[in-house]
Amino acid sequence: MDRLGLTAPPRPRVRTIGLTGGIGSGKSTVAQQLVACGTHLVDTDAIARALTLPGGRAMPALTSAFGPEAITADGALNREHMRQLAFADPAVKARLETILHPLIGEEARRQAAQATGLTVTFDVPLLTESGHWRARVDRVLVVDCSEATQIARVALRPGWDAAGARRVVAQQATRAARRAIADAVIFNDGMTLATLADEVRSLWQHWTAVR
Ligand code: ADP
Repeated sequence: MDRLGLTAPPRPRVRTIGLTGGIGSGKSTVAQQLVACGTHLVDTDAIARALTLPGGRAMPALTSAFGPEAITADGALNREHMRQLAFADPAVKARLETILHPLIGEEARRQAAQATGLTVTFDVPLLTESGHWRARVDRVLVVDCSEATQIARVALRPGWDAAGARRVVAQQATRAARRAIADAVIFNDGMTLATLADEVRSLWQHWTAVR
């Protein structure tokens, strides 16, 4: 109670959530379920895409770092070309990240500052790999499932097959590495979407209970 007899507005225990998971784990599904619970979602993958579209804020620096061959005819980053270069050469990957990560972080902070709800969820596919986000969120939520389930889900996507899915899974952080940085793990395997939503809701209630 303050001098005017007013109580301070309730503050949830957890104000920022870092959400991550391997490809096909169900991370995007959980992100939407958290939105249904009332979180404000900041999607760092969407931010990265916007930064590298024609006229995107990262394009001048990327063009001078990697030359015209890294740029498509319409002025976007040639993502496939850069993916291959970065995969083959760690120095290219580091340079790319040095340009993109600060811009992603800046835009993510800007979007979070606009949030009207009490809780912000940052959807960060590479949260485990980056080392940057762990210290910047109150809690890390990892969506996990077996690699066989990841591959089966991704292979259903248009333009994907099991071999391509397996390659991406092999390049990402291991399940063990993800689990090691988690405050909570949702094991999204062999459960219906409705059960998954129940699990998300109960974790949400637990984490956002007011002090
Ligand atoms: P990610 O963002 O981790 O790559 P998605 O959330 O896009 O994964 O999920 C991959 C696919 O698997 C989507 O089609 C999604 O609807 C489906 N999926 C995820 N979890 C479940 C589940 N528990 N039951 C049925 N389908 C699921």
